[in-house]
Amino acid sequence: MSDLLDKWWCSEHNCPMIDVGGDCYACLFDYVNERVGMRRVTDVVNDADRARLIFENGVELPLICPCCDKAIHATGGESLLKEVNGFRLETLEYAHGESQDKKKRYGLLLLGFTKNRKKKEIEVSLESAKQMTDERAMHDEEG
Ligand SMILES: [Zn+2]
Ligand SMILES: [Zn+2]
Repeated sequence: MSDLLDKWWCSEHNCPMIDVGGDCYACLFDYVNERVGMRRVTDVVNDADRARLIFENGVELPLICPCCDKAIHATGGESLLKEVNGFRLETLEYAHGESQDKKKRYGLLLLGFTKNRKKKEIEVSLESAKQMTDERAMHDEEG
């Protein structure tokens, strides 16, 4: 395989590599898992412009719609919070969605949350992963 393909695709997890700035590319799954894998959701903030999940370690993951890369105007942050509060991010999946008129296909990240035996899945754009805040960066600010 060419280097170019390796740059865009992680053959280990069969998921894309994402551009994380500074000419750096990271495996989508590794990138998300490092920050919020197996972490619990403790809050959902629903600002006017964007909703985001807050994890127990302080990392924020913006909820961005995979079809249009705009903020997911959750059906009210409160109902979403009730649905995922206390849930742990256990699985990641890379999938494809299709716009309603079937003209556009797009990649999406499927976040699989579980709590006891209950499951909840949220589809987000890869932008959500890229725009996650970094736990370590936040600790630097505090220190
Ligand atoms: Zn990978
Ligand atoms: Zn959309």
